[in-house]
Amino acid sequence: MAVTHLCEACKRNEIDVVKISDEPAQPYRLCNDCHRRLLTYSLRPIEWYHLAIIHSPKKFLLHDDFYEENGEACQPEEDVLVSAEEQIPTLQAVQHDLESLLDFSITRWFLQYDVIIALKKHDTQKMLMSVKARFYGTENHEVKSRMLEIAADVLGTAASDWVRELWENDADEFFHPLSWAAASSLPAEEGMRRIFDQLKCVSEKELPMTALSSLYRFRSHHILDWMESHCSSFNDSWGRLASACFPTWLRMKSWLNKGRPFSLIALDTMANCLAVKNDPFIEELSPKILRTDINEIEPILYDYLQKDGVPRVKTKVGIIVKNKEAIFEKGE
Ligand SMILES: [Zn+2]
Repeated sequence: MAVTHLCEACKRNEIDVVKISDEPAQPYRLCNDCHRRLLTYSLRPIEWYHLAIIHSPKKFLLHDDFYEENGEACQPEEDVLVSAEEQIPTLQAVQHDLESLLDFSITRWFLQYDVIIALKKHDTQKMLMSVKARFYGTENHEVKSRMLEIAADVLGTAASDWVRELWENDADEFFHPLSWAAASSLPAEEGMRRIFDQLKCVSEKELPMTALSSLYRFRSHHILDWMESHCSSFNDSWGRLASACFPTWLRMKSWLNKGRPFSLIALDTMANCLAVKNDPFIEELSPKILRTDINEIEPILYDYLQKDGVPRVKTKVGIIVKNKEAIFEKGE
C-alpha cells in the first residue's frame, strides 16, 4: 500500500497522528478529527471503509461490535453526521472495477458468494497480479489471508505456482487459507499430501478441528483412509470431516464394526448428512452416504445399538433411521 501524506480515513486532511494498532508494523495514520472518531467508535461509514481496506474490519477499533458491515457506527460515543457522499460504496457500484472490487472484498467479514461471483467476471491473470501485489504489499495478516481466500475461491488453477511457492515459505503462518487454496489450485493428491505433512506437526488435541478446516474441501476417500490411522479418540469434528468426504455405506459398516471411536464417528457422519444447515463447513456440500444397500441400514444400525446402547447411540440411530431417505444414496 503506497504511503501518502493524507489521513487514511477521510483521505482529505494531512496526517497528524500515527497510532500504534494491534499490528505494530502497521499503525493507523490519521488526522486529529478521524483519530478522535476512531477512539470514540464514531467514524463515518466511508472513513470506516477506508480504514477497513487497509487494516481489515477485524481490527479491534473497527470490528463488528462497533460497526455494521455498511460502516454504520453501532455504539458511537459522539454524534455521527453522515452525508450521502460519506456512505460506503455498494457492490453494484464497484463490481466493474477490479481494484475497487478487491478493496470492497477486504472490508467484508467473510468472502461472500456475491463478491466471488463478481470477482469471477474479471480477467484472471490481472487479478492474480493484483492479489499477489496486495499480499506482498501489506503487513496485515487478515488482508493477506483474504487474498489467499480469493486464490482459493476465484483464481483456482491460475494460482497453482504461487500456492506452491507459499507452501514452501509461509505454510505455518497461513495454513488454513493456504489449504483452501491448495484444494482448488493444486492436483488433489498433491494438495492433500502437503496438508497431511503439515498436520504431522499438530497436537493430538488440535488435530480434529485443524484437519476438518484444512481438508473439508477435497471430498476424497484418501482422507477417510488417513483418518483411519489418525483418529485416536472421538471428536465431533471427525464426523463432520467424514461426511464432507461423501463416504460409502461400505465404509460406514466397516467403522461400525471397528467399535469406538470409529463406530461413534460413523454414526455422527451419517447424522451430519441431515444436519448440514447448522454447519458452515459442510452446509453447501449436501453430503450423502453413497452406494448404500438400503435394506441393510436398519438391521445393521439396530445390531450396533444392541452392543452399545448408550443414550447418544440410541438418539443418533433414531435420527438416521427416521431420515434415511435424505441421508443415503442407493447403489452397490
Ligand atoms: Zn481524517
